[in-house]
Amino acid sequence: MSALLIIDVQNDFMKGGSLEVSDANEILQPINSLRDKLKFDLVVLSQDYHPSNHISFASNHTGEKLFSTITLENGTEQVMWPDHCVQESHGCEFHKDLKILSSDEIVRKGMEVNVDSYSAFMGNDKKTKTRMETLLKEKNIKSVYVCGVAADYCVFFTAMDSKNAGFDTYFMKDLTKAVNPKELESIYQQLSDIHVKVINSCDISL
Ligand SMILES: [Zn+2]
Repeated sequence: MSALLIIDVQNDFMKGGSLEVSDANEILQPINSLRDKLKFDLVVLSQDYHPSNHISFASNHTGEKLFSTITLENGTEQVMWPDHCVQESHGCEFHKDLKILSSDEIVRKGMEVNVDSYSAFMGNDKKTKTRMETLLKEKNIKSVYVCGVAADYCVFFTAMDSKNAGFDTYFMKDLTKAVNPKELESIYQQLSDIHVKVINSCDISL
């Protein structure tokens, strides 16, 4: 059984969004086409879903610069992001051109004020779990295919956690875009090191 995980294809990460990932709109149609071409047993959309006083927003930390990194009280590093994907806002909605079916599952993350969550499996504290792992195991999923944004943050950490949770995991490099494209080679290497398969979507056969 196979699952497609579409990570954070939300307005704030797309063209014109508050945390726009360059060229992110280019992956919309290819993701839709992949769904048309291949029959995944399950499609899960992750949704970054923050309260307005979220710890990841620079605006909630006096004097911290956008995109700087601070160390939180619990010892985790936290990038100071622009306000993004605030609950109930237009920015947190999925992009209108993304194909969504009523059978799709939505997994929200980053809802706790003091915990950011790049991975769709768990928070950056490595303790606060989303319902992703339980959902995939309930549906008897063995293979997980990951795409969306951003390649070097949420897609990367989701792929790592998927593999660590025991799923055969595929990172589709043609269906993701990075905040820092220069990091991609390092990202691919770290994924390969734990045996996540870094592939192009045209190479998939279910
Ligand atoms: Zn976020």
